[in-house]
Amino acid sequence: SMANDTIFGRMLRGEIACNEVYSDQHCLAFRDIQPQAPVHVLVIPRKPLESLRAANEEDTELLGHLLLVAARVAKLEGLDDFRTVINTGAEAGQTVFHLHVHVFGGRPLAWPPG
Ligand code: 5GP
Repeated sequence: SMANDTIFGRMLRGEIACNEVYSDQHCLAFRDIQPQAPVHVLVIPRKPLESLRAANEEDTELLGHLLLVAARVAKLEGLDDFRTVINTGAEAGQTVFHLHVHVFGGRPLAWPPG
């Protein structure tokens, strides 16, 4: 899959460093290099899925796990309130084509987003 070749794929393979927050058999969570809030963590599956669009029925458990880890990360970071975002496709703001869940918090977050 193309998702193997992204910067996130390189992090998963240990080829480049990341600021890790949480890791397990199925996913990795690390701080965004360009944080948009006091807490801005990305949760990514070890499986190289390009986006949510590329997920299918066999990924049901994995997708649930990513959301539970996002909530765990928020708790680890001391957040009660937080936002999770998945951008799918360039027009929606996706710039890295390896599925990732953004976890934002630590300041009031406006709605709707841009
Ligand atoms: P997207 O725009 O695809 O939803 O989110 C990609 C995110 O990855 C952006 O928030 C961007 O700042 C972050 N990012 C891009 N390259 C790197 C990197 O090399 N290291 C880390 N930690 N984050 C990155």
